[in-house]
Amino acid sequence: MGDNVIPLADLRYLAPVPRVPDGAPAPVGLLSDRLGRPLRDLRISVTDRCNFRCSYCMPKDVFDKAYTFLPQSSLLSFEEITRVARLFAAHGVRKLRLTGGEPLLRKNLEILVAQLAALRDTDGQPLDITLTTNGSLLARKAQSLADAGLQRVTISLDALDDTVFQRMNDVGFPVGEVLDGIAAAARAGLAPIKVNMVVKRGTNDHEIVPMARWFRDNYGQAVTLRFIEYMDVGASNGWRMDEVLPSSQVQRLLDEHFGLEALDATVEGETAQRWRYRDGKGEVGLISSVTQAFCRDCNRARLSTEGKLFLCLFASQGHDLRALLRGHRPDGSAWTDDEVAAAIGLIWSQRDDRYSELRSAQPADSGHAVSARKVEMHYIGG
Ligand code: SAM
Ligand code: SF4
Ligand code: SF4
Repeated sequence: MGDNVIPLADLRYLAPVPRVPDGAPAPVGLLSDRLGRPLRDLRISVTDRCNFRCSYCMPKDVFDKAYTFLPQSSLLSFEEITRVARLFAAHGVRKLRLTGGEPLLRKNLEILVAQLAALRDTDGQPLDITLTTNGSLLARKAQSLADAGLQRVTISLDALDDTVFQRMNDVGFPVGEVLDGIAAAARAGLAPIKVNMVVKRGTNDHEIVPMARWFRDNYGQAVTLRFIEYMDVGASNGWRMDEVLPSSQVQRLLDEHFGLEALDATVEGETAQRWRYRDGKGEVGLISSVTQAFCRDCNRARLSTEGKLFLCLFASQGHDLRALLRGHRPDGSAWTDDEVAAAIGLIWSQRDDRYSELRSAQPADSGHAVSARKVEMHYIGG
């Protein structure tokens, strides 16, 4: 195991079975947590497996042949996922993001997308359905996903230089195939396309300007490139503050090269600060998850591959919704939708997570995360 890698504490099994409150009112979409934050966005991890081994997420030394991924029987079925999503929609969720692991590794994902596309929010509108992918299988799947009802896609891409990219995905995957995936997504109309670049100081920060130039020149307004600060998610990536390049520096660099002006956030709970090129050649986003906390508006919940609900990306404990979906009440009958919805409502109403804000309150150079025990990102999704 490399010096920089911390042994993994397996937190996947720590999850209480949610309490079903008696006589809870039916959901009307007005749920809010202890800090007054509504529930609007559900991120659903459809697999914990991935064909990449990005060092900041699933370092090879930890996620090797000996690592035990979840067995097929633990995974929520498409019907179970759709049921949970429907109950979340009743509580006010308007946006679903499929993630993982690598979501396109889950077989027949189009079937799930089609089921989710049939759901409606509390205003009777279809939900906004999107997906985050490493792009490796997108060239093959973009059209069928769009046909099934997927509206948008976010593709992760950390470098254009093939040597840097292959080193970062750590499985020797060529950048050209991800670029083909982005082109296929554009042809299939999965727009607006977002491309996420995790910036690690000393690893790919020299790729910031080439990435910006390439997407400006080749896609203009059709692709928004977003720069994400390298985060201390999970417990296995050996995160260090000195490898974080603050977004303010990315902004300065892009401003010097291309000229930037600020845009307003479009949606409540937006994670990225939006900027546009002064010459009108498109937009970029800066996600300052480390240097500028954005917990105050955080309206996101996460559902793990095996149906555990996490209220924060940095949580160390989930809530075992699958136990309600598959379990029975004392009289042997299944829990009803109203009961499961009431349990979800109770969990959200007690939420007070604000990890990034608390971490920001620590000295910037302490180099440590607030809690050392956190669940892994590939398991609950980004
Ligand atoms: N495999 C898919 C992908 O890479 O797009 C989806 C899952 S991945 C966990 C979701 C997002 O999390 C990706 O954009 C990835 O770059 C980001 N991510 C993973 N680990 C991260 C870290 N330590 N800091 C910042 N972003 C991270
Ligand atoms: Fe896989 Fe995405 Fe994690 Fe990279 S960031 S290892 S592609 S899940
Ligand atoms: Fe939301 Fe937790 Fe991230 Fe804060 S740290 S923005 S509460 S997920």
